[in-house]
Amino acid sequence: MAVAGLDELLARGVRGARVFVRSDLNVPLRDGAIADDTRVRASVPTLARLLEAGARVVVASHLGRPKGQRSEALSLRPVAPRLAELLGAGVSFCEDCIGESARRAVAELGEGHCLLLENLRFHAGETKNDPDFARALAELADVYVNDAFGTAHRAHASTAGIAAHVERAAAGLLLLSELEHLEVVRTPERPLAVVLGGAKVSDKLAVLEALTPHADVLCVGGAMSYTFLAAQGQGVGRSLMESDRVPDAKRVLAAAEQSGRRLLLPHDHVVAQKIEPGAETRVVKEIPDGWMGVDIGPETAERYAEALAGARTLFWNGPMGIFEVPEFSHGTARVARAAAEASATSIVGGGDSLAAINQLGLGDRITHLSTGGGASLEYVQGLVLPGVAALERT
Ligand code: ADP
Ligand code: MG
Repeated sequence: MAVAGLDELLARGVRGARVFVRSDLNVPLRDGAIADDTRVRASVPTLARLLEAGARVVVASHLGRPKGQRSEALSLRPVAPRLAELLGAGVSFCEDCIGESARRAVAELGEGHCLLLENLRFHAGETKNDPDFARALAELADVYVNDAFGTAHRAHASTAGIAAHVERAAAGLLLLSELEHLEVVRTPERPLAVVLGGAKVSDKLAVLEALTPHADVLCVGGAMSYTFLAAQGQGVGRSLMESDRVPDAKRVLAAAEQSGRRLLLPHDHVVAQKIEPGAETRVVKEIPDGWMGVDIGPETAERYAEALAGARTLFWNGPMGIFEVPEFSHGTARVARAAAEASATSIVGGGDSLAAINQLGLGDRITHLSTGGGASLEYVQGLVLPGVAALERT
């Protein structure tokens, strides 16, 4: 990987340089307050190092999906005081991320001081990777640092386009740490066990196809397993499934057979008729008409836990059931415990999977919790992330 890291950048000196840092400050907001500051915290180490080194730090991020329109509800303004608190330094805020006001704010920015720019996605040019918008961002910077792993799989102006217009570019500490840990899944110590779950096959088809021949054992759970069961001709009742993806599921099953890899599907299920707390549940081998699969059954959960216990490397993305409902959360909890107890290098990605791990208080027993769901899936598939490729130039 020919990407310069933050240390190399700092070794060459950044005192007085305008350093544009693309962070991931896409936090959940509730009533204008930050509901969870995990991403702000994760951005701090890179910013702190740059400030210590005397850089003039300009921080940019997106928040939500304003679709190129200004939206007060998606303003990054509430993040500035939190960032200041965590950095132990003043953080000023600029109401726009380009143009005259941004240029003026950067010009006034002193050495070792930090400026947070308004939501990049208030401009349509950001997600379109518009070259003029990328140039307008680059006008604010001498040096570009990408630390936004969660959007590194997107070729946007602030994650890719900008890099061509600056003197120097480097990867931030969070981005580097993500790549390092996920690299372990690409070149694993074997056996490699993979557990994939979640709502939709269509979201995770590419990773299923890529990891089926790569993993020594791949366990499928969550709603996407019903598309696979349907592909095998089993009844799935009213379970969430994607009938148009049945041919894809058949192809994955055939590929597993051909490569001699173990692809495990649930062989027992927790079913319910309603998705709500307190709903009546049954454990079944075949899903009856009118019932929905809402979790993997206890036998399946044990089997998946055994697969994880025998692994030297494990990767998990996507819950095994509708874990938001306590009665349907046992399969996910069993897999989470097995991942925590395994002696393997363990990597977990995906917003909901992380939520499940954290709810159970198991976060510190996992080797690496990836902050980027989609980006981590693309990286472990062996794809080139545009946000990383853009840094390779320098
Ligand atoms: P992650 O965020 O970890 O990548 P996903 O977003 O792909 O995971 O999937 C999580 C969602 O999948 C959860 O909201 C969960 O309720 C849902 N889900 C899991 N199993 C089922 C199921 N059997 N039926 C319906 N939804 C399910
Ligand atoms: Mg999710």
